[in-house]
Amino acid sequence: AVLDRVKEVEPEVNSYVTLDEEGAFQQAEEVQRLIEAGEFTGPLAGVPVAVKDNICIEGQLTTCGSRILSNFKPVYTAEAVLNLKKAGAVVIGKTNMDEFAMGSTTETSYYGSTKNPHNLNHVPGGSSGGSCAAVAARECYYALGSDTGGSIRQPSSFCGVVGLKPTYGTVSRYGLVAYGSSLDQIGPVAKDVPDCAAILEIISSHDTKDSTSVKRKNYHFTEALTEDVKGLKIGIPRDYMGKGLDKEVEEAVRKAAKVLEENGAIVEEFDLSLVQYAIPAYYVIASAEASSNLERFDGVKYGYRTADYRDLHNMYKKTRSEGFGAEVKRRIMLGSFVLSSGYYDAYYLKALRTKALIKQAFDRAFEKYDVILGPTAPSTAPELGKSLTDPMKMYLGDIYTVAVNLAGLPAMSVPVGKDSRGLPIGIQLIGNSFQEKTLLRAAYMYE
Ligand code: GLN
Repeated sequence: AVLDRVKEVEPEVNSYVTLDEEGAFQQAEEVQRLIEAGEFTGPLAGVPVAVKDNICIEGQLTTCGSRILSNFKPVYTAEAVLNLKKAGAVVIGKTNMDEFAMGSTTETSYYGSTKNPHNLNHVPGGSSGGSCAAVAARECYYALGSDTGGSIRQPSSFCGVVGLKPTYGTVSRYGLVAYGSSLDQIGPVAKDVPDCAAILEIISSHDTKDSTSVKRKNYHFTEALTEDVKGLKIGIPRDYMGKGLDKEVEEAVRKAAKVLEENGAIVEEFDLSLVQYAIPAYYVIASAEASSNLERFDGVKYGYRTADYRDLHNMYKKTRSEGFGAEVKRRIMLGSFVLSSGYYDAYYLKALRTKALIKQAFDRAFEKYDVILGPTAPSTAPELGKSLTDPMKMYLGDIYTVAVNLAGLPAMSVPVGKDSRGLPIGIQLIGNSFQEKTLLRAAYMYE
């Protein structure tokens, strides 16, 4: 049924880079065989999932939305996907994304833009736009995305689905193609909060193959679904409301706060200082790490290689010039610049110090509040073709999401309504480290 749905809407929505119809049936038949033999009771037995195309699956094309990986088939599978498969999930395909997860619209993909299923003239958000559009268009039951500075939360908000970025270290990054390694996390995109909790429960694990993986005491996230927010302290940062925020989104956040209040939560406004520095600090750190991480794509070991070249140096140069798109090149240049001698102290080191201060500002906030509530993005989904001409403006659209990654915190986007044009509005819930359950508990009030 899901594959039929994909065939119906995919020509317009373009959520997938690769569809693995044959493999999907094989996986499903294998799960069925094990169930019939009484050897299997996985909670996701036979449920179709889509996986963002920067998450490796052995033998399957993993392009990262880039020409440079247009022929790359990994020799191993990401830990998060292995966890899903152990639970019986059936992976039906790999979803479209901004090239190397750099972008906010899924328009920087080498494989064409994904469209917003709610209005095909609008973007789905990004970079996990393919995953979020696929869930919204019912082209799968849930999906995996990755979030370095908002790439799960922002497209979830634009597509009217639930997306969660876990505490750094909760889901293994083994098999996730690195963008900004100190910020990247894999997380679930789902149609509702219970599904989101259930998938998070399955993909989270301690993994010695990821040196930043954390061993947590409890992975039973579904226990949080209690319909009770009595006494929960919610803080709304004044800095997140007002200036630069779309009126309809602001109203939606205030209404969402009321719902929690009416159910016994205590809601207050407060000043979360330093948020104005989140964008510059994020773009310096993310680009610095990206410039280093993307050095491996050189046309030698795997991936695209230019057709003619004079010598090794010329091969590197032509391969990377032809293989990477404009946004990726911009980040590599910016990252190399801020790391270069003479500029390192002025930019990169300063950004790291800012990151530490932002973390402290959140620490202070969480002494008073259990959850920070605000918008996920300043507006609903923009029209296709309107964002790429002004990169600076696009970066500014990440204002509410990037600080969370700098501080390593968990956060989720939950749909709470639509604007006057019928486009979904999402609110963002931010929690202290390891407090995903508190987020899910609050989010469950919107079901
Ligand atoms: N839009 C942000 C960027 O381009 C976030 C991307 C992400 O989270 N992968 O860096």
